[in-house]
Amino acid sequence: MRTCAVVGVNWGDEGKGRMVDLLTEDYDVVVRYQGGGNAGHTVVNEKGKFALHLLPSGVFRDGVINVLGNGVALDPENLWKEMEELRSKGVEITPENLKISDRASLLFPWHRKMDELEENRLGDQQYGSTKQGIAPFYSDKYQKKTILAGELLYPERLKEHLRGITEWKNLTLQGVYGAEPYGLEQIEEWVDLYGGAIRPFLCDTGEFLKDEWEKGKRILFEAQLGALRDLDYGIYPFTTSSNTTASYAPIGSGCPSLPVEKVVGVVKAYSTCVGEGPFVTEMSGKEADDLREYGAEYGAKTGRARRVGPLDLVATRYGAEVQNTTEIALTKLDILSYMDRIPVCTAYLVDGEKTEKFPFPDSLDSAKPCYEYLDGWKCDISGVRRWEDLPAQAQDYVRFIEDKVKCPVTYISVGPERDSIIRRGESDV
Ligand code: GDP
Repeated sequence: MRTCAVVGVNWGDEGKGRMVDLLTEDYDVVVRYQGGGNAGHTVVNEKGKFALHLLPSGVFRDGVINVLGNGVALDPENLWKEMEELRSKGVEITPENLKISDRASLLFPWHRKMDELEENRLGDQQYGSTKQGIAPFYSDKYQKKTILAGELLYPERLKEHLRGITEWKNLTLQGVYGAEPYGLEQIEEWVDLYGGAIRPFLCDTGEFLKDEWEKGKRILFEAQLGALRDLDYGIYPFTTSSNTTASYAPIGSGCPSLPVEKVVGVVKAYSTCVGEGPFVTEMSGKEADDLREYGAEYGAKTGRARRVGPLDLVATRYGAEVQNTTEIALTKLDILSYMDRIPVCTAYLVDGEKTEKFPFPDSLDSAKPCYEYLDGWKCDISGVRRWEDLPAQAQDYVRFIEDKVKCPVTYISVGPERDSIIRRGESDV
């Protein structure tokens, strides 16, 4: 298989960065196709520990070419800072190994500002935004009120376009929120500085990807967040503002005709959810504290404590369907080693009715989890590298998931390091 998407099956933070970092070994090109710098992939490799926000995880591999597609929220300021930070730790990023789509829209400082103003306005009703400007950015993109990165190459027309957009944006900032307007000069300076910094990386990523595909190269698509945060299929309105699904990968990359041949859906061995919104298996008290501590469940971008709970197989089956997963990578199995009995949610009670179907978002608030309990293995499995060396109880846990989700588990991750992985069955890369 020459194309593969690595996607989240749940609420995000499933360990996609870790899987992409591993799988890039088998691919020539790694593409980020949606979302922005609002989430963080954590990658641990021989170069150190890194929190990636917008850069594709292939930046750590020599010879891999990384692409930021037209579907991403391209914040040139934060992207540049991220690039500089990685460079300071010895990671090389050049126009040779990073290509940025000329059709990606630019995320401006006012998008971050609007995000903050709106969350403040909502008070205790807020969505739990990371305030990186993602929702205002995508709204503006759909309103056709953004600047395409490629416009940086046409300075005269850009000047006119910027003037119009700044004027329009200030109307909302001042009129709706009573906030300070942005001066045109201030925005022009910002564009000169950060737009100028990313300009050498711009290209037609569609043409690039098509050429690579025709040359027989292998392409990996890397998603942000998970199926339940997808704008169309997730727990709306507690979703993100883009499509996190594998089927969006070719569109958000620049080459809609590329097939997605293999979809690795990343599932964490238990559930976590950062931010607001319904989360049926949420635990509280000491049980939750223990799982959060063992799993180090704090946001990579914000440091926020994540909500935690047992694995929710109702949501996971739905997420796997939405993603059309051809195989599952199960991460953080090692974290469950402390548990005597492991609860797993296999159905919901919705209005007194037991169901295995993931319901319409409004019903999730009242849904109650139905648990089955599996035996724990109560030993350290972080050094295990072969399926047959896993304790029988851990094997049963994996098989139980496969059976309920109806998808093979081909990778089992037992630690954050690149080689802490058990490969199972034939993974046809
Ligand atoms: P992503 O956004 O989906 O990449 O997920 P995050 O980076 O937010 O969360 C994954 C976290 O778990 C990171 O800190 C990883 O280093 C860590 N991690 C990933 N896989 C494993 C694993 O199998 N075991 C352990 N102990 N940690 C893991």
